[in-house]
Amino acid sequence: MPSNTSLTLARWSGDAYLLTSQKLLQDQYEREFGDALQLVKGRENYLCERYAPPARVTTTHGLCRRPRAPFCQCPYARAKLAAQNGPIFCTNTAYFLTLRQWQREQLRRRRVLVVDEAHNLEVQLVRVFTVAFAPDQMTKWFGGPLPRLGSADEYRILFEDDVSRLDMALALIDDRLASLRPPGLVDDDLLSYPLTPQELALLGERDLLESALARLHFFLDAEDTEWVVRYPTEISAALELVPLTVSAMAPALLWDAAELIVLSTAFMGRPEAIAGYFGLEPEAVRAFASESPFPVAQRLIEYRPVGALSKATLSELEPALFAEVAAILAAHPAEKGLVHAASYAAARRLLTE
Ligand code: SF4
Repeated sequence: MPSNTSLTLARWSGDAYLLTSQKLLQDQYEREFGDALQLVKGRENYLCERYAPPARVTTTHGLCRRPRAPFCQCPYARAKLAAQNGPIFCTNTAYFLTLRQWQREQLRRRRVLVVDEAHNLEVQLVRVFTVAFAPDQMTKWFGGPLPRLGSADEYRILFEDDVSRLDMALALIDDRLASLRPPGLVDDDLLSYPLTPQELALLGERDLLESALARLHFFLDAEDTEWVVRYPTEISAALELVPLTVSAMAPALLWDAAELIVLSTAFMGRPEAIAGYFGLEPEAVRAFASESPFPVAQRLIEYRPVGALSKATLSELEPALFAEVAAILAAHPAEKGLVHAASYAAARRLLTE
């Protein structure tokens, strides 16, 4: 839900970044407070206006993506410009972190940065830096599945040789894209001549490789950070190199974006722990909490365990779990309620019981 407190702080500052944890929340902010803020999402959420209807092509594949295509402005570029120049730049945290990491010059320092639903922040920060190779990418970029090595340092040695080869592969894609530029067209025509399937495929390949390489370079340089290797044994598994902590990266990526940072959430944890996670000076962290507007009697937690539920015990315990849910529903026949299931599949099984 959009937070009035977050918006009030952002408006009070007159110069803020306001980050939401999901695009859905961003939409709610737009619906409820659209006049007060300037909202921008990643470019895949906007349509390129240069394609004639009924074609619906996102700006990710906009005609300006051709090498050396002329300048053009679309809903994405306009939304971004308005947010950059407006008093409240509202976006989702993942997009903001991506911009801060790879296009920092586009985001000037502001008075306040408000992060809504900040309990998700650490996971989102980790995602920005995680190096991940899916099986098809390993085949394409490394000639086959990558070996299973015991530590991130061993992968660092392995990738040292590959990274310059992949940098060259990226430059080659750029050259091939440039050579596919339709001959005989003047610059302005390029914005009306649709991208060919070959150009689209190369652009997609280019985006993936560029993003993977940016993370790989960061990993190779970040020797001081501890990295965890995730590489399950299944044949379809991806290799992931995940930073164990983001405390070294968060200051430059986030805290440097504004003079005052506000982390807003229903529950964040102890201030000392937050300072530790995010590389903040403990004495610079202040915690403010307000009482819930609901009396305790109306938000009791009733503990009714049926066992230790896991993948291994699921089939054995699920009937008892569903029986417990049915008993609760039966005890409240005339009231409305909400049942959270662990997955859509579990919700469907519950409904058929
Ligand atoms: S060609 Fe123009 S309208 Fe299309 S994505 Fe690029 S800037 Fe936007």
